[in-house]
Amino acid sequence: MSEVQPLVLLVEDEPEMRRFLRAALENNGYRVAEAVTAREGVAQAASRPPEVILLDLGLPDGDGIDVTRRIREWTGIPIIVVSARGQDQDKIAALDAGADDYLTKPFGVGELLARLRVALRHSTWGAGAPSEPTFSVGDLTVDRARRQVFVGKNEVHLTRTEYQLLSTLVRHAGRVLTYRMLLKEVWGPNALTQAHYVRVYMTHLRHKLEADPARPRYLVTEPGVGYRLQIE
Ligand code: CA
Repeated sequence: MSEVQPLVLLVEDEPEMRRFLRAALENNGYRVAEAVTAREGVAQAASRPPEVILLDLGLPDGDGIDVTRRIREWTGIPIIVVSARGQDQDKIAALDAGADDYLTKPFGVGELLARLRVALRHSTWGAGAPSEPTFSVGDLTVDRARRQVFVGKNEVHLTRTEYQLLSTLVRHAGRVLTYRMLLKEVWGPNALTQAHYVRVYMTHLRHKLEADPARPRYLVTEPGVGYRLQIE
């Protein structure tokens, strides 16, 4: 972390949740600002821009999906939505509206901090920030300059679509991608309802890249939502 502690804006109406999050964040080197309504959240994001926003989906005067849409009208500040069980559709809608990631209640401090690290790493996302051409995790290496993929020392040959799917995941490594996002990036806007394309190609990729395709280490499923490429 830099010498300046990153500022996290908590948009959350439950006092207990705010207390838990504030304590966890302050104990781990973050500064915290709070908002308890959707309106206040949007206003604070504008007046005192944080490094990352933790956004509850169910707020007294609106929902987190609208807040995400509003904030995305002017900024790419990472947004992590906090949802309750059973809010899968809202969570997906928030991701599609431009949220970066999500946490499902109840979650632990370790999971919260991991999500924040990923969000901060991507905080210049969309600003045209330069990034490394080579991505690696474990045995997997993707050289995006040469379009080559290796497992250990062995080069793996991918079809064009398989490579596009993998490189999309690499571009957003560590973050969850919904079916809709993957379909849009790889197959285009006319394929948004064809979730099975993603499942079929993900199976191909796992067979080529994973030691045990049934228990993937790199290409993990986020149940009901989409997929995530692990970064550690
Ligand atoms: Ca709430």
